Amino acid sequence: MQKEYPKVIVGSGKDESLRRFHPWVFSGAIKKIKNAAGKEDEPEEGDIVEVFSNKDEYLGTGHYQKGSIAVRIFSFEKSEPGKDFWRGKLQKAYEYRRQLGLTDNTGTNVYRLVFAEGDGLPGLIIDWYNGTAVIQTHSIGMHLMKAEITLALQEIYGDRLKAVYDKSEETLPKLASVKAVNGYLFGSAGSSEVTENGCRFHIDWEGGQKTGFFIDQRENRKLLADFCKGRNVLNTFCYTGGFSVYAAKAGAALVHSVDSSKKAIELTDRNMALNGIAAHESFAEDAFDFLDRNRNQYDVIVLDPPAFAKHRDAKHHAVMGYKRLNAEAIKQIRPGGMLFTFSCSQVVDKRLFESTIMAAAIIAKRNVRVMYHLSQPPDHPVNIFHPEGEYLKGLAVHVE
Ligand code: SAH
Repeated sequence: MQKEYPKVIVGSGKDESLRRFHPWVFSGAIKKIKNAAGKEDEPEEGDIVEVFSNKDEYLGTGHYQKGSIAVRIFSFEKSEPGKDFWRGKLQKAYEYRRQLGLTDNTGTNVYRLVFAEGDGLPGLIIDWYNGTAVIQTHSIGMHLMKAEITLALQEIYGDRLKAVYDKSEETLPKLASVKAVNGYLFGSAGSSEVTENGCRFHIDWEGGQKTGFFIDQRENRKLLADFCKGRNVLNTFCYTGGFSVYAAKAGAALVHSVDSSKKAIELTDRNMALNGIAAHESFAEDAFDFLDRNRNQYDVIVLDPPAFAKHRDAKHHAVMGYKRLNAEAIKQIRPGGMLFTFSCSQVVDKRLFESTIMAAAIIAKRNVRVMYHLSQPPDHPVNIFHPEGEYLKGLAVHVE
């Protein structure tokens, strides 16, 4: 017999986005909720619920949570999410990365295995670091699945899996009834060194930002390397020095790395040394201040700031920030140089970002040509029914 789940019934007309397979049910769309016994009742946070239209048609199965997104759908087909269900989902995510050539690649052993909605697993991020899987859950429902997820990882990777680290303390909603504690769910700290396109990086998943590394810039770093030979390169917001290592290895004449975090700069220095790069300077300093005092030395500048806007209300402020930063960088680039500029603010979309760079070029009074439109790599896939998953955007521009 099929297991009974609490039933979330959406109001009339509120089923449309679900019929287009958008995986979120907003709290305002809900008409009523009944428990498995058919009584009106609110589920526990993290409970698995089934969503129905107000004509009693099944729409999807997901995790319930208090807050504006009340249900995150992980299946649009009736299912009983047990061990095999989660294993199947992770296996699909793995197979996709295998198709991308990421799972058996000696040059690159760091990739994103699960990208939330992009892999039909809202609330779940899993990054693979050469034998260690680092999990970040953004929903209580996914957090409660961590034992099943760990088991599935063990089955899929076998001996290749050395450790599973849960790093959800900062990503679970602050007011949630369930609290996460960072720690190993399986094994213990394995090798902390990974290789990305032949560049070596030490990863501090326990103490670093996010899961330890910005895997989403892999292809953009590779592209940058094509334009660095013999040139002066400035990498601002460098974090662990991803772009800097690629630039130096590609034969840049000079590489300067800037980040306001001292810890990030220490990690950058460590990674440069790991790659045998001696000639490099790093600065623990605000990027705006650095650009102000170091003028006109660079042929190539990278701007990869943190999300200036995390919420819609901060959008205007964020755009002003991007404009000022990019105008300053464009002004300073030597004639014939290039700017690699990014935004990971989800609320600033591609069009708005590109018009902001145009505004920056007007302020800088320089001729700017767009060379490449940049984005996130395919191991951060965008579910076509959930365009919100597209967050990283960038431009590589040539400055006359
Ligand atoms: N480009 C990096 C990722 C950048 S993450 C990579 O490829 O790995 C954003 C970084 O910006 C963080 O390391 C953060 O410490 C830094 N940061 C935030 N505000 C800053 C500021 N005002 N000036 C310089 N760095 C800043």
